[in-house]
Amino acid sequence: MSKIRTRYAPSPTGKMHVGNLRSALYEFLIAKHDGGDFMLRIEDTDQERFVEGAIEIIYRTMEKTGLIHDEGPNKDGGYGPYVQSERMKTGIYMKYARELVEKGEAYYCFCDKERLAALKSEVVEGKEITVYDKHCLSLTKEEVEEKLAAGVPYVIRQNNPTEGTTTFHDELYGDITVPNSELDDMILIKSDGYPTYNFANVVDDHTMNITHVVRGNEYLSSSPKYVRLYEAFGWEVPTYVHLPLITDENHKKLSKRSGHASFEDLIEQGFVTEAVVNYIALLGWSPEENREIFSLKELTEQFDYHRISKSPAVFDIVKLKWMNGEYLKAMDFDAFYEMAEPYIKAVVHKDYDFKKIAALIKTRIEIFPDIAEHIDFFEQVPNYDIAMYAHKKMKTTPESSLEVLRELLPLLEAQEDYSNDALYQLLTDYVAKKECKNGYAMWPVRTAVSGKQMTPGGATEIMEIIGKEESIARVQAAIEKLESELL
Ligand code: GLU
Repeated sequence: MSKIRTRYAPSPTGKMHVGNLRSALYEFLIAKHDGGDFMLRIEDTDQERFVEGAIEIIYRTMEKTGLIHDEGPNKDGGYGPYVQSERMKTGIYMKYARELVEKGEAYYCFCDKERLAALKSEVVEGKEITVYDKHCLSLTKEEVEEKLAAGVPYVIRQNNPTEGTTTFHDELYGDITVPNSELDDMILIKSDGYPTYNFANVVDDHTMNITHVVRGNEYLSSSPKYVRLYEAFGWEVPTYVHLPLITDENHKKLSKRSGHASFEDLIEQGFVTEAVVNYIALLGWSPEENREIFSLKELTEQFDYHRISKSPAVFDIVKLKWMNGEYLKAMDFDAFYEMAEPYIKAVVHKDYDFKKIAALIKTRIEIFPDIAEHIDFFEQVPNYDIAMYAHKKMKTTPESSLEVLRELLPLLEAQEDYSNDALYQLLTDYVAKKECKNGYAMWPVRTAVSGKQMTPGGATEIMEIIGKEESIARVQAAIEKLESELL
């Protein structure tokens, strides 16, 4: 069998949508699993949808996610140009369109907007479809020559039969047969001379030697027309893999409105690239073993496209958050710190050791923006209810806490070493003497220095970070608060 060649063929229309990234990822994995080539082709023939800067986003995203292409606009592999507008300048699309005209498989159409607008339309599956009535097919060769010479604007249309059926094969959907009467004479070359996607994808995939075409299933219904083009040229039809729809939590097509539809959105929201790639790999594909965490390298080893599902994949942000948390836990500390630091600095302005704060939260957050709620007390103790001092299991009450804090205050003032270990020793010595449980002292101290029910790290870890002066000030303030409310 020949070497697998896949292509990612984005249209530069803006951000990189989750669906686009999944196509790129699956195409990359299918090729790389088999030692094949992965190509990047820019599909910019729809000039109206072109967005400035979109190509740079594509390059950046692919590099960041590790989907490194073997060939593309910036990496010649002998099949270039790799940008459709540049391919157009070589005359390739026109040449092949004319070949089809010669064969009777396509024809020039000079119908103007008014005539097209007056054509009968039909509603098929809720969509209004206008099928071209082959009006211009009846023009004689001379009439066509005359109009072309006179500069009448034209398009070139595919000439599909109106009887019989067309069958094509998709690796996931199996054989699909459609009546030819449903195949519209779609436009191959537009009046501005650009090819349509419908034509360019066939010409390019063939001339660039693509073996596997992997794309969203919105292209499934047009595929019979593409297959007819391959057959008209006498070209081998590539292997088709149409991917299932991605929906949001409400089972609606994932769209910009859901707020996390693009790779950029997710990164901006504080997700890490590797987790996003891992999660997206599972949007439609599942491995043989019951496992969810995969590096790109592991995905490459395991990816078998026959295990892609046909049912829609739900983009579940809760699951992605969980997965992101797993990546943060496993991440090297320095890398974690580099990413966490801005989030810590945004909340804590005091001169604390941010690395120690980062170490406390590393295993406790799912995404970076979670950091704020975990560490806000380092900046300032929030206003809390003294009922928080009552803890059933620790057998503490606001009264017992006041007593403990009053007894501990002079010890804390006398203490020089504010390391976690030394403070822990101080507190355990205290509870040993008092003959009570650890929690009986730890709980009130932690509440006093944090004002929170839950904190990353215990009392002594917090005190180590905020230091002697601040610890004493917070304990004093807690004593005053308890006194004013209890006495
Ligand atoms: N340019 C098309 C898109 O961005 C590519 C579809 C395909 O992969 O053939 O949707």
